[in-house]
Amino acid sequence: MTRPPRWELFGDLNVKATPDAPIGAMTWFGIGGRADLLIRPHDEASLVTLVARCSETGVPIRILGKGANLLVDDDGVDGVVLLLSDEVFRSHRFNRRGEIERMHAGAGADIFTTVNELSRQGLSGMEQMTGIPGSLGGAIRMNAGGSYGCIADCLETVQCCTMNGELLSYHRSELEFSYRQSNLPECIILSATFNLEPSDPVAVRKRVLEIMAAKRASQPMADKSAGCTFRNPLDSDGVRVAAGRLIDSAGLKGLSDGAATVSTQHANFITTRPDANARQVRRLMNEVQKRVLDHHGIQLVPEVVVWERTGGSSG
Ligand SMILES: Cc1cc2nc3c(=O)[nH]c(=O)nc-3n(C[C@H](O)[C@H](O)[C@H](O)COP(=O)(O)OP(=O)(O)OC[C@H]3O[C@@H](n4cnc5c(N)ncnc54)[C@H](O)[C@@H]3O)c2cc1C
Repeated sequence: MTRPPRWELFGDLNVKATPDAPIGAMTWFGIGGRADLLIRPHDEASLVTLVARCSETGVPIRILGKGANLLVDDDGVDGVVLLLSDEVFRSHRFNRRGEIERMHAGAGADIFTTVNELSRQGLSGMEQMTGIPGSLGGAIRMNAGGSYGCIADCLETVQCCTMNGELLSYHRSELEFSYRQSNLPECIILSATFNLEPSDPVAVRKRVLEIMAAKRASQPMADKSAGCTFRNPLDSDGVRVAAGRLIDSAGLKGLSDGAATVSTQHANFITTRPDANARQVRRLMNEVQKRVLDHHGIQLVPEVVVWERTGGSSG
């Protein structure tokens, strides 16, 4: 295990630092260990300086969104975990440009809040993100989406801090987004601009409610999970197939390890009870991968991001 990061990294910066922070409990799974150091920057300059110092001294740095796609190992994580929870990283600004309304939003902004605000204002373009929990930064990193579209559909620019502490901006035309991924280099996404169309608030709201109802009917939204556990793989014809269908047809709905269970509502969701731990989820993921490989000859790849100490998990 590495030693907790030193005070010199952040002591003179405008940040809130929390040693031994219970980040596992902050994820949607609500399980997993602690971060040696959680830092909430109060301004961009402090964030950039901190990232540069971590880079120079080899301290690992991770960025926590809303933890909706994240499993934290029971032993927690070393280095620095950044959380963009201050208002400066969560705010929305709107500019009218011809017929297009452009929104600039902080990466820490919540997707639910953003979609609700847009429907209140009658701005269309982000309804496809209805019912997807997380932050805008996490959504851009994962190119989150589904059958209604993905975050890249309305994205115009991304502002980020490289892992060396350099500020960069990318236009959508420089970026390639595909199924749950992009060519955006490893970085801390700070903010983004989105193109939206002025529309009827009632119509936007109606669309949001329709999508929400469809999600509630097909996903265990009220349970603790990290959404889809595995990426939808390509079959031998190069066609993307639903991982949930493969898991279901391998007879794995309801399969459990301790307090972690393959959802009976949506087989690609692993749900957890409060007494679950990350080790159970990881063992269950391995078992599902093994049985789907045996049954279908297809290797499932996790969509859930797993964090562990840089030296690896002890369990
Ligand atoms: C009930 C439920 C339903 C879901 N449904 C869907 C769905 O329909 N479609 C879908 O795509 N996903 C879905 N998910 C997964 C999740 O909502 C998305 O992946 C979401 O984008 C995660 O955002 P987050 O802020 O929670 O990221 P986190 O889970 O906190 O982090 C995920 C990854 O993004 C990185 N990250 C986070 N913020 C930043 C940033 N600012 N800069 C750089 N990297 C960052 C993290 O380091 C990590 O690698 C679902 C999850 C749940 C719990």
